[in-house]
Amino acid sequence: MEINPVKGTHDIYLEEADIYHDIEKCFSEVAMLYNYHEIRTPIIEHTNLFARSAGEDSDIVNKEMYTFLDKGGRSITLRPEMTAGVLRSIVSNKLYIAKEMPVRFFYSGPCFRYERPQAGRYRQFHQFGIETLGVNTPYNDVEVILMAKQMLSMIRLDNVTVKINSLGNEETRKNYRAALREYFGGHIENMCEDCKRRYELNPLRILDCKVPNDRPIIEKAPVITDFLTPEDKEWLNTVRDMLSDLGVETVLDTHLVRGLDYYTGVVFEIASNYKEAPDFGALGGGGHYAHLLKELGGPDLEGAGFSFGLERVASLCQIIFKEEIEKYQESLDFYVVGLNDENIQNNFKLITSLRLEGFISDMNYEVKSMKSIFKYASKIGSKFVIIAGDDEMNKGIVRVKNMLTEEQYDVPYDDQLFAKLHDLMKEYYEKRFNDNSEVEEESGDIN
Ligand code: AMP
Repeated sequence: MEINPVKGTHDIYLEEADIYHDIEKCFSEVAMLYNYHEIRTPIIEHTNLFARSAGEDSDIVNKEMYTFLDKGGRSITLRPEMTAGVLRSIVSNKLYIAKEMPVRFFYSGPCFRYERPQAGRYRQFHQFGIETLGVNTPYNDVEVILMAKQMLSMIRLDNVTVKINSLGNEETRKNYRAALREYFGGHIENMCEDCKRRYELNPLRILDCKVPNDRPIIEKAPVITDFLTPEDKEWLNTVRDMLSDLGVETVLDTHLVRGLDYYTGVVFEIASNYKEAPDFGALGGGGHYAHLLKELGGPDLEGAGFSFGLERVASLCQIIFKEEIEKYQESLDFYVVGLNDENIQNNFKLITSLRLEGFISDMNYEVKSMKSIFKYASKIGSKFVIIAGDDEMNKGIVRVKNMLTEEQYDVPYDDQLFAKLHDLMKEYYEKRFNDNSEVEEESGDIN
């Protein structure tokens, strides 16, 4: 019986897996340039960690968590986001003491939310993000947004909008909550059951409601920007002005409140403007959190962070760079042919050296005809085939065939072999990718 993947999960393989790998590599490199270090935290955490951080009234905690009792009767949850676990780890390991301030980490890994699966929305998805703690100035927020933007630039996704808003300080949010309660008081009877509950517990969360009937009411609700204190406004303006000076324009989005309770002050989201790709929702988002570390048992250090959804970033790349991905797709460098058992056994030495030299290499492990081996090597897109059969070994050579031009070369099997193979590889790339260049025709022996 065939077992299907769990609804809302997906397998990532071949070219798509390469894209994920490249994105994570580029993002990590940017984070390291900003002097961040990697942190890997468990996928499972105690359930109350998320209730305390994301907020009991958030959709994530209320409806979307994968929670179960383990065999010891503990309530365990598969992380729905990464920030809470990272901060929990900073507290558990007292990383704020061991490290000089600011504490800065980047991370990547799977998250789980029981949401309705649709384009760009999965039940298991991957986040790449960063958290920084211990600096309480707008400059930290500037740097976090700058870094998010540079990560996307690093993978050449520049056609994006950075939406920004401020959730202000406690006083701001208290006044705003009161204004929302007053406004929604006149509408709540006609709104969904979730909103009725949110109205009682935390009217700010009504703004996350996606029920179509409720949206027109929500659109007309008071906006938090009208409640910001002069300090909140100055902070937000400093962040926006500095980013603008640094070449990152932001768009004020007064409806942006994010779905997690821990944010205070500046929040942001990055949206794609590429018309070629459907709107999967925000590529990533984050913001400032003043008290989350303290709420999780640590010192009162302010922090900021963001995460990208890798599924959305990868889907966008697959659409935007489709032609390039097809053209530049990495394939095998060398396929080594052995025509009898002795050849195959000998080829292990050659192929190991090729791999250590940095060439992606493979070989046949079963005796087959030359014709079928070549057919296979061509099908898998190997750049070269190396024949190291009895004849070649007797002559102290290997025969190298360029599968693009069909040229063949007899190359001595000596300490110059790899230098020659590098030359041949360079030539291959020039021919394949530099359509206009006149590469000298070579034939026959290159030695
Ligand atoms: P959040 O933790 O809700 O702020 O989300 C940060 C980013 O994670 C979003 O901008 C999305 O790119 C991604 N994300 C959140 N939920 C999902 C999901 N269910 N499926 C895919 N990506 C998601």
